[in-house]
Amino acid sequence: DDNILKVKDLVKYFTVTSGIFSEEDSVKAVNGISFNVKRGETLGIVGESGCGKSTAGRTILKLLEPTEGKVIFNGKNIYEMTDEELRRLRRNMQIIFQDPFASLNPRMKVGELIKEPLRVHGIESKKERINKVKDIIEVVGLNESHLNKYPHEFSGGQRQRICIARALILNPKFIVCDEVVSALDVSIQSQIINLLKDLQDQFGLTYIFISHDLSVVKHISDRIAVMYLGEIVELASIDELFNNPVHPYTKALLSAIPVPDPEVNKERIILEGDVPSSRNMPSGCSFHTRCPYNEEICSLEKPKLKEKGNEHFVSCHLKCS
Ligand code: SF4
Ligand code: MG
Repeated sequence: DDNILKVKDLVKYFTVTSGIFSEEDSVKAVNGISFNVKRGETLGIVGESGCGKSTAGRTILKLLEPTEGKVIFNGKNIYEMTDEELRRLRRNMQIIFQDPFASLNPRMKVGELIKEPLRVHGIESKKERINKVKDIIEVVGLNESHLNKYPHEFSGGQRQRICIARALILNPKFIVCDEVVSALDVSIQSQIINLLKDLQDQFGLTYIFISHDLSVVKHISDRIAVMYLGEIVELASIDELFNNPVHPYTKALLSAIPVPDPEVNKERIILEGDVPSSRNMPSGCSFHTRCPYNEEICSLEKPKLKEKGNEHFVSCHLKCS
C-alpha cells in the first residue's frame, strides 16, 4: 500500500456548557473528513483559524479521542489498538507545535530535552542515548556546544530546531507539523521549511503540514487539503490547486496571496463576513453564508466531496456539475 495513513469519516465534536441554564452544546470541530497520506509525501492542511485543522491533527494521533471514524496507520486502525500498541506507535508518529518555547521545559538543558523521549520510551543504553543526541543536534543544524544551554538562550528558529530534534530522536516515520513556522520571521520560516524538506529526504519522513497560510503550505506540500468549518472542501496536488482551483473558498484563499502579476489570479474572490460558529453550522453547504455564488440549492443540500479527475476533489454544487 502506497498510503502510510488513511483517515476515514473522522468526526470530532466537543461538548461545551454555556448560558444561565448550563445548556450543553456540541462544537463540530471536525465534521467527517476522509483522506489518504502517501508514504514520503507532505499533505498540507490549510484553512482559517478555527476550521478544525489542529483538532484534526491531534485526533489523528489520538492525542484527542475521536467522536467517530477510523485512522489506519500502516494498515492498522489506531483507535482499536491496545495501550501497548499505542505506546509503540507513539514513537512512529510525532507532532511539532507552533510555539517552540511553550512546549519546552525552561529548566531543562537542551541536551536533556532532546534525550527525554528516549528515556521515556526506555530506548538504548545511557551512552547510546548521549551519542544519539550528539548526532541529532548536528542533523538539525545546531552543534554539541548548544546541548549545555537552556531554551531561553536561543532564538525562535533555533528553538524550533530543538523541537524538531526532540521529535526526530525517536526515529519516527510520520510527523504532524502544526503551524510550526507561524511564529517565526519570514526569512527564518524558509530556513525551517528547507530543514524539514532535507530531513524528509534523508529519513524518508511523511508529513501532515498544518497552516493557516497557503503561501507557506505551498513551499512544502505535494498535495493540499483545504478545510472550512470542519470539512475538507477541496483536495488536490499543488499544481492543480494553484493553477486550477475550483472551490470558491479556495479561490478566496488564493486571492488573499499577493501576486506579482494580477492577471495570474483571474477570478479574485474577497472574503466577506466572519466565519460562522461551528456551534451553529449553516445548513447545506457550510460556505453558503460567505459564498458569492450562493444559490438556492446551496443552503438546502450539503455538497459531497467528489473527484473531478486527476485526483482533484471538490465539494461544491455549482462548480462540480
Ligand atoms: Fe458556494 Fe454553493 Fe458551491 Fe457552497 S455549494 S461553495 S455556496 S456555490
Ligand atoms: Mg517533498
